[in-house]
Amino acid sequence: FLILTSFLCVLAAQLQLRPSMAAAGALPRDLFNLGIASRICTDHNSTAKASTDFGHMFEATPEALFHPRTPADIAELIRFSSSSPAPFPVAPLGNGHSGRGQTLAPGGVVVDMRALGRGHHARRVNVSAAGDEPPYYVDAGGEQLWIDVVRATLEHGLAPRVCTDYLHLTVGGTLSNAGIGGQAFRHGPQIASVHELDVITGMGEMVTCSVTKNSELFFAALGGLGQFGVITRARIGLGPAPKRVRWVRLAYSSVVSFTKDQEMLILDRASDFGFDYIEGQVQLKRTLFEGPKSTTFFSYGDITKLIGLASQSGLSTIYYIEGAMYYSEDGTTLVDQALQKMEALLGQLSFEPGFVFSKDVTYVQFLDRVCEEERVLRSAGVWDVPHPWLNLFVPRSRILDFDAGVFKCIFRDSNPAGLILMYPMNKDKWDDRMTTVTPTSDDVFYNVALLWSALSTNDVEQLHRDNKAVLAFLEKANIGYKQYLPHHTSQDGWLQHFGVKWSKIIVLKAKYDPQAILSPGQRMFLSPA
Ligand code: FAD
Repeated sequence: FLILTSFLCVLAAQLQLRPSMAAAGALPRDLFNLGIASRICTDHNSTAKASTDFGHMFEATPEALFHPRTPADIAELIRFSSSSPAPFPVAPLGNGHSGRGQTLAPGGVVVDMRALGRGHHARRVNVSAAGDEPPYYVDAGGEQLWIDVVRATLEHGLAPRVCTDYLHLTVGGTLSNAGIGGQAFRHGPQIASVHELDVITGMGEMVTCSVTKNSELFFAALGGLGQFGVITRARIGLGPAPKRVRWVRLAYSSVVSFTKDQEMLILDRASDFGFDYIEGQVQLKRTLFEGPKSTTFFSYGDITKLIGLASQSGLSTIYYIEGAMYYSEDGTTLVDQALQKMEALLGQLSFEPGFVFSKDVTYVQFLDRVCEEERVLRSAGVWDVPHPWLNLFVPRSRILDFDAGVFKCIFRDSNPAGLILMYPMNKDKWDDRMTTVTPTSDDVFYNVALLWSALSTNDVEQLHRDNKAVLAFLEKANIGYKQYLPHHTSQDGWLQHFGVKWSKIIVLKAKYDPQAILSPGQRMFLSPA
């Protein structure tokens, strides 16, 4: 044990485990003698584009923005940096929808992954649906947006089993975290559906990996926060796609009934009875009273009805289960069967009587629903604002404590703009060999996502204070949570985040990215610049 500990200490020292976003310095001149030099842009317009992200809370300008034509271009850049006497950071930029500067590379080069899919190069989304028998899968470039992957697979009547709520994220970007959504209770996160990856390591080696081939790198890269390699291709399992979706929101006044019903619903792992998609939302009373009078889901009449519910009972919070049931539109019998199935299911749930809100949409409309919200928010000028998000995984056994301490105490009288998600997932659908971490206790944990939008400087400060108060409460109450899309600013923070996995992370980092050049914006290891 002592030998192992000293070994890890040496590795940690070599990797200089101190978080940092500081640094800068010119890139080595020789870089501009490489064949890829014409695609490395150092002009202000280019570097400015890569100097912030969706969160709009961190800024750092790289030395250059690189537009690769092929994965081999990326390998050449990384090989050059890692073997240089003056290595520099390299950060793949997917669609830049991180919240806390995870794509930034001060003093280094940001790789515009989306450039791989541009131009007249080989098609980088290829669906394999030959024959009537599964397995069906899609080979998608790491730079591809999920919306494009979904559209390509739907042409074959197939779809990824799990989609994030928002599809304008890249394959590499979500697989570097986990990729969760309302289908994860049944199929696990997106990383659980990956059969194979092409990864470029921190030494510039191009490696194909899977559960049976180079499995160590495969598991490391999935949920690996970009620390062990750049994902340039993922082979993702597919299932049959439905044509249409019955989409409901059910309102609850009691958190106990809300969580009890959610947990009962996710126990059902087969698709022949329950919902195919389950999420949940929390609405603070003041956001209902003072927020928009209609949304992309709720009409003016719906909101008026919900305000009535909140006023009558003096509630501080309303909860919604969001469920979706898939069906095929071929033939009235099937439509009737779907309706009966929905009625039977709703009959078993304890939402407020009469508070069922429903829609009937195509599958692609359902999957791409957040795009409609984006359109509305953009036109109101509140999409490109700071987003001090806090995403948490909370063990089932402590979710009521969380509700009492956070929603009914810290946010009791607040009216922050944004959205709160809260829905459970089954832990046994997560493969612990992958890098992502989940709470260690309980077989079920909740994703609680505080998705704030700050509309003024005061809001930013207030929301930072609120988030800090939430974290302090979680620590004090010993909730045993994990952050999702984690953000830690100290080595202790990462150590606590990864727990027993941390020593393995250090060994893997030393093996696959010994110069610690990859994705420095995660602030896990000190980057060389
Ligand atoms: P980026 O922000 O560009 O990159 C993220 C990180 O991954 C960076 O560290 C980057 O260096 C690294 N990276 C990027 N590409 C690669 C690659 N090819 N190989 C290795 N590392 C790479 N997440 C969910 O799980 N479920 C949701 O429902 C969900 N909804 C969201 C809705 C919105 C509106 C937003 C803004 C985010 C949402 N997210 C959700 C979070 C999202 O999945 C992550 O922020 C994701 O990383 C963003 O993808 P991206 O392509 O923009 O990645």
